[in-house]
Amino acid sequence: MNIRVGHLYPDYLNIYADRGNIAVLARRAAWRGHELDVTEIEIGDAVEPGAHDLYYLGGGQDREQLLVSHDLAAKAEQLKEAHAGGAAFLAVCGGYQLLGRGYRGHHGDDMPGVGLLPLETVAGDRRLIGNVLIETEVGPVAGFENHAGRTLLDPAAEPLGRVVSGFGNDGQSGYEGCRLGRAVGTYLHGPLLPRNPRLADWILAQALAHRTGGEPPELAPLDDELEAEAQAVSSGRARGR
Ligand code: GLN
Repeated sequence: MNIRVGHLYPDYLNIYADRGNIAVLARRAAWRGHELDVTEIEIGDAVEPGAHDLYYLGGGQDREQLLVSHDLAAKAEQLKEAHAGGAAFLAVCGGYQLLGRGYRGHHGDDMPGVGLLPLETVAGDRRLIGNVLIETEVGPVAGFENHAGRTLLDPAAEPLGRVVSGFGNDGQSGYEGCRLGRAVGTYLHGPLLPRNPRLADWILAQALAHRTGGEPPELAPLDDELEAEAQAVSSGRARGR
């Protein structure tokens, strides 16, 4: 089966090689006999709800976020419609902030967001940097964070996970990321998926469910020895900070 991915602003939102997440999804899909069909969605391109099974947004500096935020906000209705229709989303750091209602950057720029995730972000003075470990529904997830933004979830919103070590959304709430149905937003870079294969498979299964119109499938297990080792190293760094 071909899994159709809409990669939003690959040239602007690609800090810390966030593109690597797509490479991981492509390999893990191929090992199960599926193909990842990636379309780049740039400034001015239309989003056609139903045309993609997964939307991906990477991270970026305030400067890049400012360049894409108005165009992204103009795509808000289509992206929300796609989400309501069961498409999956993965958004990292700067992309995560912009899937919320908006982000006020370090220099006071107000950037509109998609308003898909129930959250808001305002930059603080000190950057929140370092290795981070969180506990999620799919088990531990480890990565690296570097953001000025403090993200506040609405009271009813569900975080992606609870912080075991590191800062997370705001350094205070103990929450990291946000999950709404098949949409996941997180501050974890590194990239995220090479060292967190269970999360990668969860996302693939959600995208496949959209593709088939059925339930998320049980994916055949893979030999994840290297991935597990990468996660152990990353978790160890986070715990040791
Ligand atoms: N520019 C945003 C911030 O500083 C996002 C950073 C990122 O994507 N790493 O909070």
